[in-house]
This record gives sequence, C-alpha cells and structure tokens, in this order.
Amino acid sequence: FRAVGLIQRGMGAYQRIEQALSLPAEPPQRETPAVWARTREPARQTVSPEEPVLALRDIGFGYVPDRPVLRGLSFSVAHRQQVALVGRSGAGKSTVFALVSRFYEPDSGALLFDGLPAGGLSRAACRARIAVVDQNTHVVHGTLRDNITYAVPDATEAEVRHVVELARLEGVVRRLPGGLAGVLGERGGTLSAGERQRVALARALLARPALLLLDEPTSHLDTINETALTAVMRDVTRECSVLVIAHRLSTVQHADRIVVLDDGRAAACGRHEELLTGSPVYHELAAGQMLRPAGTRTSAVTTPRTRPR
Ligand code: ADP
Ligand code: MG
Repeated sequence: FRAVGLIQRGMGAYQRIEQALSLPAEPPQRETPAVWARTREPARQTVSPEEPVLALRDIGFGYVPDRPVLRGLSFSVAHRQQVALVGRSGAGKSTVFALVSRFYEPDSGALLFDGLPAGGLSRAACRARIAVVDQNTHVVHGTLRDNITYAVPDATEAEVRHVVELARLEGVVRRLPGGLAGVLGERGGTLSAGERQRVALARALLARPALLLLDEPTSHLDTINETALTAVMRDVTRECSVLVIAHRLSTVQHADRIVVLDDGRAAACGRHEELLTGSPVYHELAAGQMLRPAGTRTSAVTTPRTRPR
C-alpha cells in the first residue's frame, strides 16, 4: 500500500539531503545518550533537566571560506521555552536551523543538546531530538492519518488523536469524508494553507521532539489561520521547547525570549517591549520590514521606515 512508500520517503529524507550535501562520514564512536535512546515516550526526557534543550556557544560558520554567515552566535533554548529568532532577510536564521539539524558543522564554537556537545553525538541522535516544520509543507496523496503518521507508523490511536487536538485539526477530521481515513487530494488540495501547515505540525509532534523548529510558519497564512497557528504554538510549548523563526509580531509576542540576529551574532535578546526600545535592529524590523501585526499591511510601529521595502 501507498503508506509504505510514504514511510520510506520519511526515513530516507535526511540521507538524501546528506548525500546532496556530500557530508563527510561520521566518526563511528559517536553515541546516543541512553535516556534519549528509548522509545518515543521519553523523547522529551533529558540528560540533565537544568541544561537547556539547545545551546549555541560562540558559533562561527560560513558556507564558503572567507564569507562568514555566523560570527560568534550564542543563545539557548530552555525546557518548555518558546524562543523566537528574528533578523533581516539573509541574516542567517535558516542557517541556524541547518546547523541544528546537523547538515553542516560549525567552523568554530559549539552546539549543545541537553548540555552535550553535538560533536560527540551522532547526527541521527540529534535529529531525533528535533522536528522541523518550514513553509514547504508536504501533504501527499493518501489519508489524513497517513499524512500525520508517516514518520511514526506505529503510533497509537490515542497518540494520533492527541496531536490532532494539539494541532487543532478536529475541524478537518469532521469535515473530511471518512475523517482520519479520508483521502487528501494530490498536493492536499482539500486543505487550506493553514491546515496543511497544521498537518505538518501534527506529523512533527507525533515524533515527540524535545525541540520543535519552525521556519517562518505564518508567513503565507491569512489572519484566521495565523491566529490558529499561534494558539497551537502556545499549546505546544507545554509539551516541548520551540524555536521559531518569525516574521510576524503575532508570533513573537508570545515568545518567552526573542533573539535578534544581526551581523552573525545575537545583537539583542529579550521580550518584545524591551527590544522595541532597546534594540535598534529590532525596532527597524518592527517598524518597517516585518513583524507586522496579524492581518495588517501597515507597520507595527508608527515610525518612518528607515529602509525601503
Ligand atoms: P535568513 O534565513 O536569515 O534569511 P539564511 O540563513 O537563509 O538567511 O542565509 C544567510 C546567508 O547565507 C545568506 O547570505 C545566504 O545567501 C547564504 N546561504 C544560505 N544558504 C546557503 C547555501 N546553501 N550555500 C551558500 N550560501 C548560502
Ligand atoms: Mg530563512
């Protein structure tokens, strides 16, 4: 049946990306901490609860020599915390996700999962701690259930119901003939963009990551779907930590902490109100370019734009 192909696709994705990037082979001694290695349920368990789920320490990185993208970036994500990463286009936000996903190794500094340096861990172990949802949400021809469970085919009914609720997909389940067994059209045509995004979220959450990485999840959504996604993100923080690359004010307002990425570093760190007055870069983002309130096309702050659109 079709689902078998979906599962293989899910499992093979990382390997294919690795091949495309021609990553060097891993040293064989790299390990998975015992507490992580158990089944899905303890995936949120930690080696030492006082350590952040993720920490970047003084990370330097460039895709090509002499063109650094990150130069001394440090920040961390504590347990159950929602941290937003903001910055101008090209600042290196998605690069941070590529490093956390272990598709690249930092040139300097250290990445730590649960306080453990990533260098000593297998890439697979690190990736099992995280789940990534970006704007390219993949909905394939198959049932709604297949689309949610394809990376975790042995998920129980209760687990599936739980993520359906968490991702606010009950409306879709009710509407779709056959509910969870209902077939989604090619490219998920029966779903709105926001619903597709939440299917991708449900799929990610089913794997019970310790850390959910969201790359500009609301950038293509209308106000209603954006509000739903923001609510989902708030709920999700009860179960895992969230690091979200954010464009919109509605996303960052609820963040416990906002990291302003500029010139390859964390130029500022704090909550929305503090940063508006304390960080010129953040103020500029809020005023002109991004971080607009939900559903508006006007600026969030009534200050003249300092940069052309
Ligand atoms: P952001 O997500 O903040 O918009 P990115 O992390 O995508 O920024 O990009 C940061 C910088 O790295 C940009 O200058 C971009 O052109 C460059 N870059 C991104 N991905 C690659 C890549 N795969 N190879 C080479 N350069 C890249
Ligand atoms: Mg990006």
